[in-house]
Amino acid sequence: MNKEEKQIDLIVIGAGPAGLTAGIYATRANVETLILENDIIGGQMRSSYTIENYPGFDNITGMELADKMEAQATGEGAIIDEFDFIESVSFSDQEKIIETGDYIYKPKAVIIATGASPKKLPISNESKYLGKGVHYCAVCDGANYADEEIAVVGGGSAALEEAMYLARLAKKVIIIRRYDSFHAEAKVINEVEQVANIEILYNHDLVNVEGDEFVERAIIRNTQTGKESTLPIKAVFGYIGTEPKTDLFKGNISLDQSGYIITDESMQTNVKGVYAAGDVRQKEFRQVSTAVADGTIAALKAEKYIVAKKEKCVMVKVYSVQWCGPCQKVKKYLDSKGIPYEVVTVADAKEERDVVLQVSGQRSVPVTTINDKVIIGFDKHQIDEALKNL
Ligand SMILES: Cc1cc2nc3c(=O)[nH]c(=O)nc-3n(C[C@H](O)[C@H](O)[C@H](O)COP(=O)(O)OP(=O)(O)OC[C@H]3O[C@@H](n4cnc5c(N)ncnc54)[C@H](O)[C@@H]3O)c2cc1C
Repeated sequence: MNKEEKQIDLIVIGAGPAGLTAGIYATRANVETLILENDIIGGQMRSSYTIENYPGFDNITGMELADKMEAQATGEGAIIDEFDFIESVSFSDQEKIIETGDYIYKPKAVIIATGASPKKLPISNESKYLGKGVHYCAVCDGANYADEEIAVVGGGSAALEEAMYLARLAKKVIIIRRYDSFHAEAKVINEVEQVANIEILYNHDLVNVEGDEFVERAIIRNTQTGKESTLPIKAVFGYIGTEPKTDLFKGNISLDQSGYIITDESMQTNVKGVYAAGDVRQKEFRQVSTAVADGTIAALKAEKYIVAKKEKCVMVKVYSVQWCGPCQKVKKYLDSKGIPYEVVTVADAKEERDVVLQVSGQRSVPVTTINDKVIIGFDKHQIDEALKNL
């Protein structure tokens, strides 16, 4: 199937808080924006029961905050496509290509906001019991364990908050924590310690889960004594950190050793016009508020880049006559690269003929001017070279 090619100002990849914020800012700046999402609009917010630290909302469910951000982005005019998935990307300073199932997009700028996914629990039965007692989303799967004993693995704020959510549904929640303390907000630690049906097992590692078709017990190890024991639980929920969703960009964008995208403070990656925002980029704190901040900066920088590119591009002129084959070829080539240009028809005015003579020293077309560079005839390499400097 021949895919339709589409030029667009900006594509945002990912509709979590970073991508939705970028969509809000970009469309408000009159930048034509498409957000591509391959899963659920709202990102990780959808798997967080409550969010208590996002300014302006002292307690809001992740679902509600996601709905609000989505409504605001689409209300401003951002288009979100959640059904056409990206197959490949190719980014260079000169050109950005995103191929989806349906289209070949050639955006002027790109914001990568693909976020992160939960790290898998490092146990050999992880895939065997995935969805059958091994879970990563309390709001999605927690209700299946009403009145059961279950465990949460992890020690950050997300682990503790999700444990408290699960404790409302389950008979008992055991938090398995590798170290002797948590790495979470003090307020959240205080809260979790008050919950009657939460038991905290410090200095313990999850070794494995076992059962028949579904999980029936967990094997744990005391990290100080090395002693193993068994917990009769029906599920483990893993919150041991996240890993970036960057497989698609390997080879196109500079990543750090853990796979996070390296940016500067303007969210600029190593490729001009490609920005990264939110959990997907290398940074210290990954929160909704920091994702939103990154999305804001990325959109404002992308807008500046797009405007500058458009202004520079009007400096491309093609002096031509209507029936000249090489003239058509120059125009076709510029079209294929998504470069806007002005056509000057030399037959129309003596002044234009004089300009051709002036800029090229001859009376022959096509003559293409790209800023100060003058290219006589159709010469792909010279055009490419001149465009590099735009
Ligand atoms: C259980 C849990 C509880 C949390 N609690 C809090 C909290 O209380 N407060 C707080 O501030 N933060 C919390 N966080 C963290 C917060 O949710 C994240 O920091 C934030 O969502 C990151 O936003 P993001 O837009 O960068 O990425 P994400 O939210 O991960 O969104 C990225 C989006 O990109 C999409 N995507 C990925 N790959 C592609 C692709 N190839 N094509 C198209 N789309 C793609 C994903 O499907 C996703 O929708 C919590 C996280 C979890 C998991």
